[in-house]
Amino acid sequence: MTTTFTHEFNTPVFTGKTSFPTGLFINGQFVGGADGTTIDVVNPTNGKVVTKIAEGTSKDVDTAVVAAQKAFDTTWGLETAGAERGKLLNKMADLMEAAADELAAIEALDNGKTFWWAKNVDVTASIACIRYYAGWADKNHGQVIETDENKLAYTRHEPIGVVGQIIPWNFPLLMMSWKLGPALATGNCVVLKPSEFTPLTALRMCSIIKETGFPPGVVNVIVGYGQTVGQAISEHPHIEKVAFTGSTLVGRKIMEAAAKTNLKNVTLELGGKSPNIIFNDADLDTAVGWSVHGIFWNHGQACCAGSRIFVQSGIYDKFLAAFTERTKALKVGDPFAADSYQGPQVSQIQYDRIMGYIESGKKDGATVHTGGERHGTEGYFIQPTIFTNTKPTMKIVQEEIFGPVGVVIKFEDEEDVIKQANDTMYGLAAAVFSQDINRALRTAHKLKAGTAWVNCANTLNPQVPFGGFKQSGIGRELGEYALLNYTAVKAVHVNLGHKM
Ligand code: NAD
Repeated sequence: MTTTFTHEFNTPVFTGKTSFPTGLFINGQFVGGADGTTIDVVNPTNGKVVTKIAEGTSKDVDTAVVAAQKAFDTTWGLETAGAERGKLLNKMADLMEAAADELAAIEALDNGKTFWWAKNVDVTASIACIRYYAGWADKNHGQVIETDENKLAYTRHEPIGVVGQIIPWNFPLLMMSWKLGPALATGNCVVLKPSEFTPLTALRMCSIIKETGFPPGVVNVIVGYGQTVGQAISEHPHIEKVAFTGSTLVGRKIMEAAAKTNLKNVTLELGGKSPNIIFNDADLDTAVGWSVHGIFWNHGQACCAGSRIFVQSGIYDKFLAAFTERTKALKVGDPFAADSYQGPQVSQIQYDRIMGYIESGKKDGATVHTGGERHGTEGYFIQPTIFTNTKPTMKIVQEEIFGPVGVVIKFEDEEDVIKQANDTMYGLAAAVFSQDINRALRTAHKLKAGTAWVNCANTLNPQVPFGGFKQSGIGRELGEYALLNYTAVKAVHVNLGHKM
């Protein structure tokens, strides 16, 4: 089934209409799924179905892989110069810029994040990411390597071929951009699966991709469920690489599927339970402001959320009072209201999961310092919640909640807090607040995390790599490092006269 999704936004922050084709996007065309089934797209603000879209299956993945391989061999891959790929990526960014408000509104409708954040982070950072990789497209060259006088040896950074990309629902457009940018800049063709919970911006992007003029088959988007479309991508024998962002549980399944079939190269961006450490000598205002952003940004649905807030005893009371005041002031409500900071969680499933964690914290004897309840009567809204008086073994301290729920933990000394902070299977990110540069950097270097923020939190740039230590992932996205995920290095040896 292919349809046109049309929606009128008549809101305090955005007035306008969106209307775009939906379906599976294969070989530059919108088509129905092989089985003719559909997926409901739900508005998390009220739980109502917004539209139905085509559901993909493994058969559709097969069709998309054939289209992608053909494009790779005939029009893309080694057939399009890097400079040309860069031009197309920049044109795509221009078109995204022209549709920025519309993209933000679709994201807010589908995911529940506020229009303001969608526009000022998701859309803005997506455009910046695509432009950043546009710049790399003609600079992805190898090296000339000296050996001896009789030989010229050099490397080529070649595209891998057809790559699979599987993304989550928390930053739908941004994760799509993080994936497409480096893959297309380096000349790969893509079969991408958005989350079944938030497919709309990915589908709107398909029209932008078409309008940009990418050859058909370079980007294919198959909406569908993880166990079907996601699994089919992970085990497809002609997909040479899979890049995944999502939970550690599913990351493990993807790696297994890849290992069992064609040993495809795998990069994983997984979950986290990031520590946020505030020392006695921190600037209080700075620490409080960034800690609120650290845990409550995107409704806590951020893999790098600073969900374990460790505060040294000398500043604990003052910090907790100011942090509580700022938390209570966060306005929860309609994503399209001008003063909303936090909208609904993305789905009923996530709402239930988070409320389950809140209940477990209460049952285990932690103190609900603020929040801890549903907000409002419809949709998936949860009050920003802070727990105190926790124990290290409690589920709310150990597990990723992926919602607006933080724990505040008192500590005494530096050595002890580093030990506690590292006491997790995750290692995605960490933050340190101190005005003593030696203490701040010493701590940042000892934390087992792929990103360490000093006197800030949850702030990313397309130029700077992002990814996890331990069970938070394999490989790095963003920055020059991400190019490595999408290139195969070929060594060429040229004989300059050596006889055998
Ligand atoms: P998820 O793992 O449930 O799903 C992610 C994607 O994988 C979805 O598209 C889903 O359909 C698909 N999927 C599910 N089962 C699959 C299977 N068996 N085979 C292949 N694909 C499958 O995660 P989610 O709930 O969408 O997102 C939340 C998780 O993502 C959190 O754990 C969060 O920390 C993580 N995340 C990590 C990063 C990062 O950069 N490290 C960024 C965002 C989110």
